[in-house]
Amino acid sequence: MNIHEYQAKELLQSFGVPVPVGGVAFNPTQARQTAEELGGSRWVVKAQIHAGGRGKAGGVRVVDSLDEVKKAAESLIGRRLVTHQTGPEGSLVQRVWVEQASQIQKEFYLGMVIDRGTQRITVIASSEGGMDIEEVARVTPDKIVKEVIDPAIGLRDFQCRKVATAIGLKGKLMPQMVKLMKAIYRCMRDKDALQGEINPLAVVGGGDEARLMVLDAKFVFDDNALYRQKQITEMRDLAEEDPKEVEASSHDLNYIALDGNIGCIVNGAGLAMATLDAISLHGGSPANFLDVGGGASPEKVTNACRIVLEDPNVKCILVNIFAGINRCDWIAKGLIQACESLKIQVPLVVRLAGTNVEEGRKILDESGLAFITAENLDSAAAKAVAIVKG
Ligand code: GDP
Ligand code: MN
Repeated sequence: MNIHEYQAKELLQSFGVPVPVGGVAFNPTQARQTAEELGGSRWVVKAQIHAGGRGKAGGVRVVDSLDEVKKAAESLIGRRLVTHQTGPEGSLVQRVWVEQASQIQKEFYLGMVIDRGTQRITVIASSEGGMDIEEVARVTPDKIVKEVIDPAIGLRDFQCRKVATAIGLKGKLMPQMVKLMKAIYRCMRDKDALQGEINPLAVVGGGDEARLMVLDAKFVFDDNALYRQKQITEMRDLAEEDPKEVEASSHDLNYIALDGNIGCIVNGAGLAMATLDAISLHGGSPANFLDVGGGASPEKVTNACRIVLEDPNVKCILVNIFAGINRCDWIAKGLIQACESLKIQVPLVVRLAGTNVEEGRKILDESGLAFITAENLDSAAAKAVAIVKG
């Protein structure tokens, strides 16, 4: 699960991490008011969407008057912001974060991510902050430092100093960096984050006043841990998620939208992955991943069909069921129910195997509906691909 920048900043602040003072606003008047309350003479108005790359896309405005704050908010709220991470349709901006502008001296990158190889939270830092870290990694990999954290002893001071030194922080900034890194680590661990990214982490203010400040923060949390993370769960913004995925999860279906045209309804995540592979192998392209799970009742199958069909790209549906706990007769009944209630116009290729398969096939045959049946996954995929290639 993703959260907005302002939510990440508020969360980090509660762990003692220095962030600029600011406030969230849902309309231009509120944005102006917030800036007035914050005080100062320079503000940053930032579009709040889950995607990054806002700076380059005009989603981050630095302004010098309260009227300009309002104008900036006017031009952002209610518009779709297209960044290199949103895709061409962009993301609708529904709120902005207004903060006091910082006097930036230098920008760094600081990230923490669970490295699946070592199974440990790993710190990634670079002196080349503010820009695309993927680009830095590609062009100047030596400008990136990594430090692996042992979960049994946590992040140690010496490790923080090592990272700080490697990216060129010294003097008073050194102990600040140690404190900041340890706070971010605590936040990651306590809140079950998968990844936290500070880009830029900045040195702000000059001379004796120089200090570290988090200017942008992006956090991703483990969906499987949300049951024990009430505070994080409350930060979920459903408007940022694919509506089909939101609906599917409310019906206990595991759906992930993809960009092809063959809708898939499968039981079991492994079989669903194999189905996507089989479609690709035959030169087709799946429209989604969908795992209906174990005991798939006729209602669940109907819901699955409806969600798959909400995607206008779907030209054919491939149903692939290997019933163990599931029952083929239930699936068959569900498909008939779905065809009737949803008035399905696209061809349905059905492959059934396992528990009650004979009964399931009989139900489909006797329905009088035009199901295209297949004996195995390979032929089902071939038939579906042939249909969409027409
Ligand atoms: P992103 O492009 O979505 O990652 O958004 P960022 O929050 O990282 O903003 C992009 C850039 O805006 C930063 O790298 C800063 O260089 C720039 N910026 C300029 N002045 C300020 C300021 O006072 N505060 C903040 N937050 N960003 C500033
Ligand atoms: Mn950024």
